[in-house]
Amino acid sequence: MVEEQPHGPFAGEIAPSEEVPEFSVQKVFVAGNIGMCVGVRNSLRMAHEVTDITKEHEDVYAPHELVHNVVAMDKLSKKRLKIQPDLLQIPIGSKVIFPAHGTSPDDYKTAQERNFTVFDTVCPIVTGVRERVKNAIKKGGYQVVYVGVEGHRETEGMMGEDPHNITLVQTVEDVEELSFDDEQPLIAYSQTTLSGLELADVMKKLRKKFPSMKIPPKRDICFAAESRQLAVIGMLDISDLLLIVGSKTSHNSQVMRQLGEMRRIPSYSIDYPHQINPSWFSKDIRFVAFSAGASAEDDTVNANLKWLTDRGAEAEFLEPIVKEPNVTIKFPEERIEALRAEYNNMPHHLNLFIED
Ligand code: SF4
Repeated sequence: MVEEQPHGPFAGEIAPSEEVPEFSVQKVFVAGNIGMCVGVRNSLRMAHEVTDITKEHEDVYAPHELVHNVVAMDKLSKKRLKIQPDLLQIPIGSKVIFPAHGTSPDDYKTAQERNFTVFDTVCPIVTGVRERVKNAIKKGGYQVVYVGVEGHRETEGMMGEDPHNITLVQTVEDVEELSFDDEQPLIAYSQTTLSGLELADVMKKLRKKFPSMKIPPKRDICFAAESRQLAVIGMLDISDLLLIVGSKTSHNSQVMRQLGEMRRIPSYSIDYPHQINPSWFSKDIRFVAFSAGASAEDDTVNANLKWLTDRGAEAEFLEPIVKEPNVTIKFPEERIEALRAEYNNMPHHLNLFIED
């Protein structure tokens, strides 16, 4: 249960008003496809294992958020995980964790030059799209049009692979601006966390403008992102309000929230229960659709659900709308054991670490 006071970048963004006198929500529909995906789970497990072992000895670094979730990153910052986007500022020989949504080739190179011990938690689904893009360029001679969100780490990592042969588009308007030589073979790929709707419009425009462009039959949207979106859509017809547990920085969480907005029902995303504003629940809000993005941890989801059920709403747990594939990521137990053995024999530098 998350009871701690907020201290993330979004803390205090929403100032809860006075409690409404009557809480009229009868039922909370809890999505069957909800919350943390396998890639995020793996990344956070690695980060907790490494920081648990090293925290009394040294800082551990990450070039940016390992996962797009304020609560999860707050927990890790208390265990001496430091975010440092400029790898040249990270001390030589440090332990560095690379995130679930991928890292650019330049950062891998810098990590090697600075003799970092890297724990790479890139999700294999992200890697799969990267490999397909690289093959299309190297073996197929294609110019890749990549549909992604500008500034998103997954997109930045992808663009870093081959900036000359990958062109980023985000919107239909971006496609209008594109031009290529007639002879240039073209192929399209996308970021894994887009919504089907976002992608469909852009792909339609690409097809129309470049009829010879190859569009692989298998879409790159990740099953975890898509199933959570479909589960939200399935609840909207029976709900008066949509509540998504997920950070403002989480693209897939914001896509889920926007699905509710498109259906014109009040839709909010929150990290901590204290961000739920009781005034959202006017007396005509009786049925709430509740879900969580792929980077929200189980205890955070439960804490927010409890806020609703504590006020008398009954939780109805829906069946998954999509059966998700059983993807597993092999965790490097031996590597963690070796790290543990290394630190077990090391004296503690007690002055270096003061627990919060
Ligand atoms: S959303 Fe999909 S691609 Fe992204 S980390 Fe999770 S499982 Fe991997």
